[in-house]
Amino acid sequence: MKSTEMKKIHSIIIFFILSSFFCLFAKVPADYVNLQDEVTKLGAFLYWDPLAAHAIIQKNGHHLSISIDSSIALLDFREFHIIEPPIRKDNQVFVSKDVISLAIELFQSEAELDFFKVGAILIDPGHGGKDPGAIGTHLIGGKKTTVQEKDVALATSLELFLLLKNRYPDKQVLLTRSTDVYLTLEERVEKANNINLAENEAIIYISIHANAAFDTKAKGFEVWYLSPGYRRSILTETEVDKDLLPILNSMLEEEYTTESILIAKFILDSLDAEIGSLSPKRGIKEEEWFVVKHAHMPSVLVELGFVTNKEEATLLADKNYLRKAAQAIYTGISAFITHFEQSRGFTGGQ
Ligand SMILES: [Zn+2]
Repeated sequence: MKSTEMKKIHSIIIFFILSSFFCLFAKVPADYVNLQDEVTKLGAFLYWDPLAAHAIIQKNGHHLSISIDSSIALLDFREFHIIEPPIRKDNQVFVSKDVISLAIELFQSEAELDFFKVGAILIDPGHGGKDPGAIGTHLIGGKKTTVQEKDVALATSLELFLLLKNRYPDKQVLLTRSTDVYLTLEERVEKANNINLAENEAIIYISIHANAAFDTKAKGFEVWYLSPGYRRSILTETEVDKDLLPILNSMLEEEYTTESILIAKFILDSLDAEIGSLSPKRGIKEEEWFVVKHAHMPSVLVELGFVTNKEEATLLADKNYLRKAAQAIYTGISAFITHFEQSRGFTGGQ
């Protein structure tokens, strides 16, 4: 046989080996089960991020995080187990039965039930003092009125503060500013990072703003959440194996993003219910708008409406309207807190 023919045969053999190899991987192994079906059976909540290929299964306050093709499962943000890697086929996620057993065991464990607790809520009224934020001047009720973002943000934040303080006497409810003063971004970050928390406590960070646009027709409210673009070093090298650090940190980052998206969704839905008949819902947006260095801090930013739109500026100049908006944000935050702290028996559906 000539050497070129030999090579051809070799290539064919390699081709068959490779294709059978891929066929093997394309098939769901016999001991694998459909994740969504199992989660439904367990009465748990599944959060699936198809872009990051990351799933969180949640019940009784416990969280099990897994990623496609990764052999690490993260339990309650801190403990990890080696598992058979989950796979994705036809847009469905399949996991080994061991992962389901791990989830059942985790959800039944009483010891760590209070692991995730909201210890503090930091309300950050945007702008202030020499920085008015967005400004809109309109004829409102025959009177020339200037609506300033800093005032809208402060009035809403003070209402929200009272509602939360009243509802959660055992939590730290804080404001970055309670008067018309100027704060730099660094000062706001510092306030957030200086809050004392217990090991199992998290902070929720809520920033309140109003919008402006060149297009005076632009109107509506929207909620932004912190994007996972930041590399926050959540676990220190002394805590875990150094090789696993980047993987674990990226998984934890996903967790905080998930929480931020959940708060954003709860607030958006609540605002829609409360003021949706007066102002359109613009949706949830993602932005790298704030450098959060704190380990446990799901963060959102609420844009209440456009001061540049006459109709909306009229609403934003009305204390009763801002009270309604504050009530809605409060309802959204409470729903989130309940979801995480008292999720025993919670079956999802959000
Ligand atoms: Zn602003």
